[in-house]
Amino acid sequence: MTGSAASTGAHGRHAYPFHEMEQKARKRWKEEGLFEIRDPMKAQRPFYCLNMFPYPSGDLHVGHGRNYILGDVVTRLKRMQGFSVLSPMGWDAFGLPAENAAIANRTPPAVWTKRNIARMKEQLISWGLVYDWSREIASCDPSYYRWTQWLFLQLYKRGLAYRAKGAVNWCPSCNTVLANEQVVEGQCERCGTAVETRDLEQWYFKITAYAEPLLRDLDLLLHWPEKVRVMQANWIGKSEGASIRFPIEGTTGAIEVFTTRPDTLLGATYLVLAAEHPLTARLHAERKLSAKAVELIERLKRHRIENRFAVETEKEGVNAGIEAIHPLTGAKLPVWIANYVLMGYGTGAIMAVPAHDQRDFEFARKYSLPIVEVVRPEAGGSDGSAAYEGEGALVNSGGFDGLSSTEGKRAIVQALSAKNAGEARINYRLRDWLISRQRYWGAPIPMVNCARCGVQPVPESELPVLLPDQVEFRPTGESPLKFNEEFRRAKCPKCGGPASRETDTMDTFVDSSWYFMRYLSPTLDSAPFESDTVNRWLPVNQYIGGVEHAILHLLYSRFIVKVLRDLGLVKFSEPFERLFTQGMITKDGVKMSKSKKNTVAPDDLIRKYGADTVRLYTLFIGPPEKDAEWNDRGVEGASRFLQRYWNLVEDTAVNVKGRAPAPPLSGKSAWASEGPRRDLRRRIHQLTAQIVADMDRLHLNTAVSGMMQFVNALDDYRDHGGDLAAPEVDEAMDIGTRMLSPLAPHTAEGAWERLGRSGSIFTAGWPEASQEALKSDTQRIVVQVNGKVRSQIDVPSGASQELARDIAKQDPNVQKHTGSKEWAQVHYVPGRLLNIVVR
Ligand SMILES: [Zn+2]
Ligand SMILES: [Zn+2]
Repeated sequence: MTGSAASTGAHGRHAYPFHEMEQKARKRWKEEGLFEIRDPMKAQRPFYCLNMFPYPSGDLHVGHGRNYILGDVVTRLKRMQGFSVLSPMGWDAFGLPAENAAIANRTPPAVWTKRNIARMKEQLISWGLVYDWSREIASCDPSYYRWTQWLFLQLYKRGLAYRAKGAVNWCPSCNTVLANEQVVEGQCERCGTAVETRDLEQWYFKITAYAEPLLRDLDLLLHWPEKVRVMQANWIGKSEGASIRFPIEGTTGAIEVFTTRPDTLLGATYLVLAAEHPLTARLHAERKLSAKAVELIERLKRHRIENRFAVETEKEGVNAGIEAIHPLTGAKLPVWIANYVLMGYGTGAIMAVPAHDQRDFEFARKYSLPIVEVVRPEAGGSDGSAAYEGEGALVNSGGFDGLSSTEGKRAIVQALSAKNAGEARINYRLRDWLISRQRYWGAPIPMVNCARCGVQPVPESELPVLLPDQVEFRPTGESPLKFNEEFRRAKCPKCGGPASRETDTMDTFVDSSWYFMRYLSPTLDSAPFESDTVNRWLPVNQYIGGVEHAILHLLYSRFIVKVLRDLGLVKFSEPFERLFTQGMITKDGVKMSKSKKNTVAPDDLIRKYGADTVRLYTLFIGPPEKDAEWNDRGVEGASRFLQRYWNLVEDTAVNVKGRAPAPPLSGKSAWASEGPRRDLRRRIHQLTAQIVADMDRLHLNTAVSGMMQFVNALDDYRDHGGDLAAPEVDEAMDIGTRMLSPLAPHTAEGAWERLGRSGSIFTAGWPEASQEALKSDTQRIVVQVNGKVRSQIDVPSGASQELARDIAKQDPNVQKHTGSKEWAQVHYVPGRLLNIVVR
């Protein structure tokens, strides 16, 4: 294809004036406020459609576009269906890239961020996305983060925010703490540097207090992708088992372990401590460890986390030189320190049951530790080459012998309880949410340290704790807040004495854990949101975003909503009713990214083909939940389709000139009862039924292909000499344009006007297929043989007796009852009955 798509090229007989239509349509939507919610308490039939707010990283590419275009289609579809749709947009604007850019280019993070926001906003608008910009928010704005700080204080007041020293993941390159979930295969999620562990005072949110409701309420999320619910459940990681204490020989202390298999307790032959276990640290400090043990601990601590997570790592350990006492048998068990037990999970200590745990088995083999079988499978037995991890009947377990694993678990926990050596316990994999970051570009944690009163919260009336803008960035990446005396100097809210301000800022996931409520009252300065309004509009009816947020962002938002519910501030328990996670758009088989230099910018494509072409291709590229490969040639295909559509608009618009600009949808008598017009109408309504259903289920690629068949049907009709002035054609263009409006809104708005309709198409209502038009052209009649009902046959409406008789003759049931007999007489009631008399 040569030349611009706007010209009348090989496929177009009419100019497709997309530039002009884009400008005109956008002006109209804005002026008529069609996609704005002026009064959230009064708007009828509220529907909240939300795209995850983006990080303002700069230029968007067509892969990003998919997410927003999907949201825009939902917004427009719901608007067509008569809902008041809230579709806001904002910016997840705090975070590391801005700070790194500041260090590299000496540009203040705020300046860099604002510039990127302006650029991205321009791009979003160029896609023809309709957001209610009057509700725009940015999490780095003091009027926003004031309420993020307020949220922190609410959690602090309820004991859900606390400070503790803990081993944390440390990125030596970013110079900051990372949450477990920001460590990907042992590397910093942001910069790829190998992560180390450090002990630091940190702030945490006690999300573990909500582990059970977060797990249980997943059952309420019926409209979430199954895979996301499974990922959340696994992340929370509930396991039922027992907590067991093994007294330490010669001391009053004990080693506590958690196991999901208390039935294997009698097979425990040794214990293992993590290198970071407090007991390990104490033995180390008291110089009770062998030189070999000290060497291993030092090495493991230095060791990169990635190697410890890797499955193929050789198990390695050393005897700690102490013994633990088996709580039931009194046997003395050796205690080891090994690399395959981690502090972050469970208690940091395990009872090793080598006969029934493969990792213990491998370790026991390597260090010649005893392996005792205590669970025997129902059929056969272990050949000793691997651990048997299944359930079975207890053996070598004294008084518990013969019990099933299930019975054994109960009996052994009971025996432990009786000796106060253990109890049944539910354990969660979920850890508390580490929210402090040693960075500048985030919401300052609103706390001060007073030498006399300790850690004190900043009074709510003094919020926001403002980020200073005159700061100096160090090339090491250390937070400028640490060196900013003016920021640090504070007054103790309790005693009025000198205090020093907390210099840590909050994880940006805190900012995004509540933003969906702020959109309802973005400028409110007496509260973060109005309860009445959010109760009316939330949960979000449709949330759309990347599956990379399937765990953290969604889990944290769910947690915060539950906390706010328990504070009596909201009445709902879950923030997002429906979730849609779109697939990635790839180029040359890989994810589009700046670093791979394979991004496709939307700007040139929009200039050349128009926004609707880019939208339509993005929607057509594949099922929206699946990954898809971008192909510029596909854009040309979408452009040709819109050109063909526009030709039909122009060709049929000729016929509406001088006629009343109303769709002739009323008179049934106007429709042809047979022939090409009748066939066209049936086809159009069949496609309408299919497209409407596809749009509802967000099967947007098949909806687009349905629109292509729609245009094919009209083109075929015309190519076979069909009359374009027929009312069936006018009706088809009316329905087709309305169905096209969420997908290619500017073209549909332009066509609507060109077709002589009044008002914006987005007030025209959503079409549905006419049952009457779909009605089959055949009728079912009963066939009797000698007065007895023998069959039913389909005949064309109004079929003659001869035709009905011929069709009946072909029917196997009729043949069965007439055989070779002569048809002496036929009695026919059109549309109802054919009676055959045979002799
Ligand atoms: Zn890093
Ligand atoms: Zn004080």
